[in-house]
Amino acid sequence: MPSTSRRASSRALLERLFRLYYQARPALILPQDMELREFALQPFGSSTYIRHLAFSSYGELLAYITRERVPLHLYYSSARYEYPEAPNMEDKKWLGSDLVFDIDADHVPGCTAREMVFCPRCGHVPEGLRGSPKCPRCGSEVSRVQLISDECIQAAAAQAGRLIEFLGRDFGFPQASVYFSGHRGFHVHVTCEEDCATLDSQARREIVDYLRATGIDVRSVLGYWDSRRGTGHPVPPSPRDPGWRGWIGGYMEDRLGGGVPSLDEAADLAYEAVSSLRVEVDEKVTIDVSRLVRVPNSLNGKAGLLVKEVEPAGLKGFTYSLDELSPFRGRVRIRALTAVDIVTGGYRVEAERGEILEVGAPVGIYLACKGLASLVSVEGVKLVEVARGPT
Ligand SMILES: [Zn+2]
Repeated sequence: MPSTSRRASSRALLERLFRLYYQARPALILPQDMELREFALQPFGSSTYIRHLAFSSYGELLAYITRERVPLHLYYSSARYEYPEAPNMEDKKWLGSDLVFDIDADHVPGCTAREMVFCPRCGHVPEGLRGSPKCPRCGSEVSRVQLISDECIQAAAAQAGRLIEFLGRDFGFPQASVYFSGHRGFHVHVTCEEDCATLDSQARREIVDYLRATGIDVRSVLGYWDSRRGTGHPVPPSPRDPGWRGWIGGYMEDRLGGGVPSLDEAADLAYEAVSSLRVEVDEKVTIDVSRLVRVPNSLNGKAGLLVKEVEPAGLKGFTYSLDELSPFRGRVRIRALTAVDIVTGGYRVEAERGEILEVGAPVGIYLACKGLASLVSVEGVKLVEVARGPT
């Protein structure tokens, strides 16, 4: 079979699996006011989105995605609109937006994705031509696949945990929900009913700056200590102080156990506190008041994993496990599109280019979604017991 028809048949198998999942009527978590939201999806076999969809019930949405177009990616708007189905933004009549945050593992300090570059047609792995979009041997477009370590995804989970603390303590949003993105990050979602709904982009940017500690002046946070001020009464930051001073105070208390540091020691500790407590949220996501967010309990086509709610208490010990995050069970046969030697989410896969091997469904589907393998057969795939939506 030529490689293009192999690719088409692999895509058809993947689509069959995604349809199987949605046909099981999974409990997609939808906003209470879903009829005010724009829905959007990227169907299989298309590089563009279908946008400006509107649904008034779970059943209506489910009928669309199982009968009309199976989504590789499924979203609803963080915004509420009077006319969500209007084809241009102006006519939708914006009513307000939830507050959303995205933490991606490759933005966590110390984490960069490893990129695999190869030609899916001739198998050439270009050396020193990382920037070139075309294979120097056969002229086909090269594939670029990014992989990130489990540790970095776990570090992103810990950042999401800190974000929840910031939102609860400093912003009065104790009710944020956290979702694993279905790929390698976390989404934090605050449903905004009143004031926070109408914050504009600039106000949302200020929240981002606060969380990232952008431009924080640590010396002025510690300013009370400066002897030039002549008060003579050093007041170390206390965990009970508001804002960043309080976070720094808590960090210092943990490390000093009540001792009073010199101003220089305090400054060093304060810098340390800021760099370890700041949260790397993606600015462009939060400032966008018409952002599309992934539907919780839908599948993310970048990895074939669930967009899954994580209890805040579970973030610190979050384990990135494909078995936990995939709704698929059983075995699949895959063909490696390049040489792979991958350890991820509790699986290890090693294969030569072109090799056909049988692997667990979660990792086989993951590799197919990532573009490192094509699916050859999926006969034995079953679904785990999934929570059902309303009937
Ligand atoms: Zn090539």
